[in-house]
Amino acid sequence: MRNITVLSGGMGGARFLQGLLHGIEGDLLPGVSPDARVTVIANTCDDWWVHGLKVCPDLDTVMYTLGDGIDLERGWGRRAETWSAKEELAAYGVEPTWFGLGDRDIATHLVRTQMLDAGYPLSQVTEALCRRWLTPRYGDRLTLLPMTDDRAETHVAVADPESPSGTRVVHFQEYWVRLRAAVPAETLVFVGLDQATPAPGVLDAIAGADLVVLPPSNPVVSVGTILGVPGLREAIRGTTARVVGLSPIVGSSHVRGMAEQMLTSIGVEVSAAGVGLNYGARTGGGVLDGWLIDERDADQVARLEAAGIATAAVPLMMTDHDATAAMAAAAVALVR
Ligand code: GDP
Ligand code: CA
Repeated sequence: MRNITVLSGGMGGARFLQGLLHGIEGDLLPGVSPDARVTVIANTCDDWWVHGLKVCPDLDTVMYTLGDGIDLERGWGRRAETWSAKEELAAYGVEPTWFGLGDRDIATHLVRTQMLDAGYPLSQVTEALCRRWLTPRYGDRLTLLPMTDDRAETHVAVADPESPSGTRVVHFQEYWVRLRAAVPAETLVFVGLDQATPAPGVLDAIAGADLVVLPPSNPVVSVGTILGVPGLREAIRGTTARVVGLSPIVGSSHVRGMAEQMLTSIGVEVSAAGVGLNYGARTGGGVLDGWLIDERDADQVARLEAAGIATAAVPLMMTDHDATAAMAAAAVALVR
């Protein structure tokens, strides 16, 4: 296999990609050429505008993580960050004070916003930013694409006793950062998603792949939104590539993040099988040929196989690059 395409959210996808690239470069993945190229199609439904700046959390998490600029403890934003601009904005009383942009990070957002204002589409802006972060390290081995150049945003309806309707709709960022996903998400609305078109290169990356991977990213607000771009699901269903996914749910928990809240909100069982069956078998109208689940969930293998999805149970905790590369190797082995 020489061409691998990965549909990624932020932190879970970025960590998986680190292990995948480590595995390719170290020739640790039987069946995958050490010259293999990776194309990442990243979710952009988390994007929003704040203080006049365009913020793309998942694109930046992938870019900073693979470019070795991420703050490892926070899992987002720049390492060795300072917060002077945030403090100055707060001193002016400018809202939202709950959303932090670090000083170093602001430089990325200034470049992005200026390029967008000058008329460049997000895909070209992303390419320009990656010339700093990814090209020196990976050359043309790695390409990062936004799923779409169009504006599409996840919004969340939450209960609000003070509102006449009893609910209030907030941007995904407000749900995650200000409300900390601590209240139930009653409804998810993907504003603009059904009008979005795949960014240049996205459909080709799926059609031309040998392997398409759904990493352990959030199945609703990361991979789910990517699959929601019109034409994308059909491209995956039609590709000659093998399609394999890795469960973001381990023993009915999301490890870190908020996959539990999102699955509950769309009525999908919070389990490795629940997520796999929701993606569905390609033979049954879904997108998966294979589905990797954690060894703790081995009792769910039969249920998934009965639905036509090749399934294996292996350790799925991304504790370090070697462990994650072993997950990638198992995913390849499952569908080879
Ligand atoms: P986000 O955009 O930053 O939320 O990141 P993603 O959507 O790419 O991935 C978030 C999801 O990754 C979480 O909801 C978890 O379910 C999953 N995840 C995080 N760490 C691990 C891990 O070590 N193993 C597995 N199997 N899943 C993980
Ligand atoms: Ca995200």
